[in-house]
Amino acid sequence: MPIHFLKGVGAQRAEILHRIGLHRASDILFYFPRDYQDMTERREFDQLEEGNKLQTIVGKIADWNRKSTRRGEMLTLTIDCGEGFVNGHWFKMPSIMREFAAGRRLMLTGKPKFNPPFWVMIHPQITYLADSEEEDEIEPFLPIYPLTEGLKQFHLRRILRNMLPVFAPLLDEVFPEAYLSEHQLLPIAEAVKAIHFPPDKAAQLSAQRRFVYQELFVLQLALAVRRLQHRTCLKASPLPVDTKIDTRIRQRFPFSLTKAQERVIKEIVNDMAQPVPMNRLLQGDVGSGKTVVALYAMLLAVAHGHQAVFMAPTEVLARQHLRTLTRMLEGSLVKIAPIFGGQKPAVRAGILQDIASGNAQIVVGTQAIIQNELPFQKLGLVVIDEQHKFGVMQRAALKVPTGRSGETFDPHYLVMTATPIPRSVTMTLFGDLDVSIMDSMPPGRQQVKTYIAGPEHKTAWWDFVVRKVLEEHWQGYVVVPLVEESETLNESLNRENGEDSVPNNTVQNNTAQNYIANLQQVYEQLSTGQCKDLRLGIIHGRMSTEEKERIMYDFRTGEIQLLIATTVIEVGVDVPNANLLTIESAERFGLSQLHQLRGRIGRGKHPGFCTVFCNATTEEAQKRLKAFEKLSDGFKLAEKDFEIRGAGDLFGTQQHGMPPLRVADLVRDKEVLYEARQDAGEMVQSDPGLAKPEHAKLRKQMLNRYGSVLNLGDVG
Ligand code: ADP
Ligand code: MG
Repeated sequence: MPIHFLKGVGAQRAEILHRIGLHRASDILFYFPRDYQDMTERREFDQLEEGNKLQTIVGKIADWNRKSTRRGEMLTLTIDCGEGFVNGHWFKMPSIMREFAAGRRLMLTGKPKFNPPFWVMIHPQITYLADSEEEDEIEPFLPIYPLTEGLKQFHLRRILRNMLPVFAPLLDEVFPEAYLSEHQLLPIAEAVKAIHFPPDKAAQLSAQRRFVYQELFVLQLALAVRRLQHRTCLKASPLPVDTKIDTRIRQRFPFSLTKAQERVIKEIVNDMAQPVPMNRLLQGDVGSGKTVVALYAMLLAVAHGHQAVFMAPTEVLARQHLRTLTRMLEGSLVKIAPIFGGQKPAVRAGILQDIASGNAQIVVGTQAIIQNELPFQKLGLVVIDEQHKFGVMQRAALKVPTGRSGETFDPHYLVMTATPIPRSVTMTLFGDLDVSIMDSMPPGRQQVKTYIAGPEHKTAWWDFVVRKVLEEHWQGYVVVPLVEESETLNESLNRENGEDSVPNNTVQNNTAQNYIANLQQVYEQLSTGQCKDLRLGIIHGRMSTEEKERIMYDFRTGEIQLLIATTVIEVGVDVPNANLLTIESAERFGLSQLHQLRGRIGRGKHPGFCTVFCNATTEEAQKRLKAFEKLSDGFKLAEKDFEIRGAGDLFGTQQHGMPPLRVADLVRDKEVLYEARQDAGEMVQSDPGLAKPEHAKLRKQMLNRYGSVLNLGDVG
């Protein structure tokens, strides 16, 4: 039904509603409040009391003015409440004045103080009311909607008050009746009424729970169906392990495996023995030793005469993997084919020939290059390292053609990430994968001490660094956000391809309070100042591959003692003698990025020392750095980061390819998520195609929302 026929809408307001995406009656019913005003705190003028209790008073605008004070410009609004006047004061908020007009009815909510002869509220919340008093809003909780220009709270409230009794009973219920009562979910009609005009807090929460549950349940249904399809439609070569293979593989490792590594290898081996492709995400904190786990899986594939490919996001990391594998496979018959940009055509041709003939069993390189068709002879396993930046869609795009003799088979997939992801996010963005977690470190992993420092600590810190380098031959990194002063943070983000940095930072950095450290300047300062006796090097994303490789070589061999770097060194780089880390303008980095950076040190015999310098900074950045100083467990940090930044970021950017969640909040609604996931799994198990008539509506909603993103095809 076109909405301009609705009571309280009309042609003009319909236009405004269209602007915020409300076209049909049901759109309005599902336009949920973002908050509520607690009217149980409403007082008459003579009931106002001083103290810390929020109170609400209704009145009409009588007067307003602004004047300058020591705290900046102060705005005063006087409202007439019949029996007396109440003043609202705001500092530095001239924009709210735009809505003022003599005689407008409104409510002020705040903590009143009696300042004879007036009652006063500092920074009260304003709620505009309809002008006529007979329309007074009497609900105990008033909905507060996201608005747009020309639309007022009382407009939407009036429209919904009129609509709900008529339309709510007509809404389609997707859940079977029995399901609702079994899971203590409000029926849709009741829930919609209660989400707009809840009689009390409990009713609002239970209405909210119903919608959150529904949203997450439908998503989890889609993920469960996708997993099921994956299991029933795709075929892979089973690559089981036996004692002989196992012994041979382990001989390659210079250390015995940790408990966590053993457990994860067991999970992987189990998967690879199946005739369906493994689809597993391995989450292991920085330095937990994922590379050997990957090597185990690759050698298992090789033992069965299959090829394996190992992809890394950056060339620095891919080359490090190449070195590690080459070292561990020294003297074996396994041949490794490196695939990098800038290889000479003849060299590349020879490598491709090796891959096509099956002569090379393991291919190592960067994702960008390997995703181009490689002529595999028989691909059995794909390992993707440091793959935390992408969701379902991008993973689909990472599929690698299996090669001539593997046409009807898919390879096994192992996706690795060192960015621990909160469990709730894993369950949604990576919900179609099986998850392994590596939560303990190899023995001998050193503590890293972390300090937050201001400019006044610089001299002492650099003294310490210089002493450690000169007397104990330690090495260190200095990490800065920018390469040169004229660069903006956004340019640097694109350059380093790190999505994790502090969002919305488009500020130019050359004003004093926005100063962001840059590589050139830091290098100049250190090389002419306190670190003039050290051998310094520079590395950043704009250098050519050869330059970067040369620098990394010089650093590994100790030729460079102090490496000044951008976040190119963020992932994976492993130089055990580096124990000192300095991060400049640390407020510019995200928590997981800081954690990754810290993971570069304390990898050898000695404890690591990490000092972060920051400028005057926001409250959020402060929280972030505090958490970084206090917590060293990547999983705990990830949860914290998520709490600080909220889920909005993750789902806002759409980089995962999934439609955004509309009502659920993965921080707030964790418990509902776990429940919904469990329930969805059970439903798909008992009714794999969701073919039962009572599931038809759920199935339809699932396909509408996720059918094409998750490539669910025609279920059933
Ligand atoms: P990440 O999980 O961050 O990729 P790596 O695979 O790079 O970690 O391993 C970090 C370091 O730990 C490497 O130097 C590696 O050789 C070492 N390592 C891995 N497993 C063990 C183990 N079981 N015992 C001792 N050292 C190990
Ligand atoms: Mg690694």
